[in-house]
Amino acid sequence: MTAAPVNLYDLTREQLRALLVRWGFASVHTGLLWNYLYLGLAESFDADAMPDLPPKLRARLQAEARLGALPVALATDSSDGFTRKYLLRLDDAERIETVLMRFTGRVTACISSQVGCAMGCVFCATGQMGYTRHLTPGEIVAQAVHVARQLRLPTLSSQLPTAPAAGASGAAPERLRNIVLMGMGEPLHNYDAVMHAIDIMRDEAGLALGGERITLSTVGVVPGILRLAQERRPLHLAVSLHAATQAERAALVPAARKWPLDELMAACRTYSTTTGRRIFYEWTLIDGQNDTPDHARAVGALLRDLPAQVNLIPLNPTSGYAGTPTPSAAARAFQKILADEFKLPSTVRQRRGIDIAAGCGQLAVTASA
Ligand code: SAH
Ligand code: SF4
Repeated sequence: MTAAPVNLYDLTREQLRALLVRWGFASVHTGLLWNYLYLGLAESFDADAMPDLPPKLRARLQAEARLGALPVALATDSSDGFTRKYLLRLDDAERIETVLMRFTGRVTACISSQVGCAMGCVFCATGQMGYTRHLTPGEIVAQAVHVARQLRLPTLSSQLPTAPAAGASGAAPERLRNIVLMGMGEPLHNYDAVMHAIDIMRDEAGLALGGERITLSTVGVVPGILRLAQERRPLHLAVSLHAATQAERAALVPAARKWPLDELMAACRTYSTTTGRRIFYEWTLIDGQNDTPDHARAVGALLRDLPAQVNLIPLNPTSGYAGTPTPSAAARAFQKILADEFKLPSTVRQRRGIDIAAGCGQLAVTASA
């Protein structure tokens, strides 16, 4: 029986080196192949895609390895002109969504960590679809590679407004600058695969999406937060709070019953003390639910003395939840209380891709897609 071909996107550079050495090739070829994979963004092992590989290595790769690229089932552009959503097909015919977001001078990929999600947050389309399975490291890395590849395509550059000042001789190819693990799924529920993928994506000789460029958002998986702290993982951490009391939070985020607010805040404190890092606290603003001045004061008090920034996200519509977003005047009033009374910095997240359901919490795969 022959073993299944190894997906090269599953391997760190060190693992790739070990594989090549096992196959009897000098480790110098690792650097070459890694460049083809993550700088050249090669789509095959063919001679035109990887011209300098020794033919014997190419043959071995063709026989025993594969590039786990994810075919596009559907690409949709937002009328905002900056956001494109991809429905990508996995080998077992499951599908996930990945979002390309262009900001001034940088491109961010919002990537998924699971097919669906087990956490069931009431206002989230991914939560509403339920959990199917974890993604493999290669499936996570392939999403970043996919977005990086799109930036090389002239079609994308001509369709989306170009970031300013690329020089008179025309735009240099834009690079993928940031990853946000805020797509489908709860990344700390799939801890090992996500961390392995991050190790691959942050490799300086490859995608070079180092610690400052990756933000991981969690619903509040306490053991995962403590493990991140203990392992001193270099990334930005965002924690989805949405409410400042256990009862209010549990009504929106069922996972709060497993990891209660006081345990979550203790874990966040440990994380910040151990790593010296500030945490972003996300707060989806739902009209009349969690957006009054009293709510602002409650979150201000909860985060007092913690290195924190609050990211306010006006609720995006999903089919399974009837709430409406907080109007912008009330969002500004909420911010002002945090700033004036608690010296707590906050931002209101730009609304992106809402018309194509690519905004926070809108990612889901429907049967018709
Ligand atoms: N599973 C991770 C990452 C998911 S999405 C987590 O829950 O943190 C990133 C953010 O979008 C989270 O803070 C999530 O609570 C929020 N979100 C989910 N649904 C939303 C919606 N309909 N409108 C606005 N924000 C939403
Ligand atoms: Fe899962 Fe995050 Fe959606 Fe909650 S908000 S259901 S944790 S993806």
